[in-house]
Amino acid sequence: MFDKEIFKAVIEEIADTREVEIGCNECFEQLGRFVEMELSGLDAVRAMPLVHDHLQICGECRDEFEVLLTALRATGDA
Ligand SMILES: [Zn+2]
Repeated sequence: MFDKEIFKAVIEEIADTREVEIGCNECFEQLGRFVEMELSGLDAVRAMPLVHDHLQICGECRDEFEVLLTALRATGDA
């Protein structure tokens, strides 16, 4: 039997995911991983779109992102 409830829940989850925005705390928690992926040449934007979205709208986190990026890049070069 076709489970409409599960189907509906999945659809709602997808819709929610598209609209959801993360806050600075969540962004900060995931920022390290985001930067590491970026530096590894992985598609961080695609893997963690919410972090990317937040960086577009939040100057504070974008500053933090750039600091981390610079710091990790310097470490990697050493
Ligand atoms: Zn923020």
